[in-house]
Amino acid sequence: RLAAQRIQACVRPSDTVARLGGDEFTVLLDDVSHASVATAVAERIIDALASPFTIKGAEVFTGTSIGIAMSSDQLRDPHALLQAADIAMYQAKSSGRSRYALFDPALSVEVQQRLELETALRHATERDELRLHYQPIVDLQSGAIVGVEALVRWRHPEHGLLSPATFVPVAEESGAILEIGRWVLRRACEDVGRWQRKHPDAAALVLCVNLSARQFQSPGLVDELSQILRETGFAADRLKLEITESVAMHDAETTIVTLHALRELGVQLAIDDFGTGYSSLAYLRRFPINTVKIDRSFVSNVTSDPNDAAITAAIIAMAQRLHLRVVAEGIEMREQWAFLRAHQCLEGQGYLFSPPLAADDLVALLEQGGCIVPHVARAPDLTVA
Ligand code: C2E
Ligand code: MG
Ligand code: MG
Repeated sequence: RLAAQRIQACVRPSDTVARLGGDEFTVLLDDVSHASVATAVAERIIDALASPFTIKGAEVFTGTSIGIAMSSDQLRDPHALLQAADIAMYQAKSSGRSRYALFDPALSVEVQQRLELETALRHATERDELRLHYQPIVDLQSGAIVGVEALVRWRHPEHGLLSPATFVPVAEESGAILEIGRWVLRRACEDVGRWQRKHPDAAALVLCVNLSARQFQSPGLVDELSQILRETGFAADRLKLEITESVAMHDAETTIVTLHALRELGVQLAIDDFGTGYSSLAYLRRFPINTVKIDRSFVSNVTSDPNDAAITAAIIAMAQRLHLRVVAEGIEMREQWAFLRAHQCLEGQGYLFSPPLAADDLVALLEQGGCIVPHVARAPDLTVA
């Protein structure tokens, strides 16, 4: 409110100041003869918001990034105008604190596409555009489904079902991943909790959820997770959080502290994409984890590349000595499956068993007895933009 008052003091009574949501304000200047009028107002607003606010006796500082779009014959539509201002604002933001930027139609198409993706992504959760698919994790001896991995997809209004590889990095950079991550955790706990209550056989299912780097490092993670567990009633020991090896190793000492805090909640922990980061094996012993997931890149080559076969066998053996479970990722061929079984890898996932499935299809599978007979690899469920 204080910010709104200050912004209002910078414009004429005939102009409009609106709050579109969160910490975003929009100013509509009527009758502007030249862009310099708009930039002068932007400078005034930046100055006005630069002095601290006094809240309960404490001084609070804030930065301001402003994007400016001028209406023109090409930019008539109000939505397009707002989007152009938004793109300019992101440009301002990325050039440092307290800046303004004018929308530049000549901005490279690639940058624009990325910014549009970023903008659209910020609305994806509120517009209910995210979907979760679930890939079964099976017992490699019996084919019984022992768990599922929740994998997020984005049903983009124009581009269709987008792979997380397309948008998770963008969300990670913009910070939207925190909201997406919360949504994923909550929705996955709700879905799987419902199946567990309905199908007694599913009660033992372990739900695996991926955490992004930013999510794992966010100070609110433990509180948020415990709130989600409380509100959904999901059994903590049935939830397994996956962090990639490179995220875990980024600041290994802090990782240990965070992992212990998560373990206190009773959840299980897995190192994802194992073998692709730079693990110091000493840390593997110090991380309070339950599971390592062997990265697909090794599994793909176990029958063709003796080095990858040796590494895979060594990871399995090492994990067993450390009393960790091992899950092999990306099993596509019978020969890979046979290799893994021969080396006592107990669990795995991959197209040979099942691609990630929409919730209804997974429920149907559970209702048929929850056992999967391997078949020839099926195509993935989505397109990469
Ligand atoms: P990941 O956690 O290693 O997930 C496994 C990926 O391998 C999934 O890709 C899955 O569809 C794919 N996959 C499974 N079986 C096979 C197979 O037999 N062959 C091949 N070629 N691929 C297979 P997806 O769903 O595209 O996800 C990619 C990555 O995006 C995930 O890798 C994970 O790191 C990230 N991700 C997915 N969902 C989330 C999420 O909710 N939050 C965060 N932070 N990251 C997520
Ligand atoms: Mg994973
Ligand atoms: Mg993985």
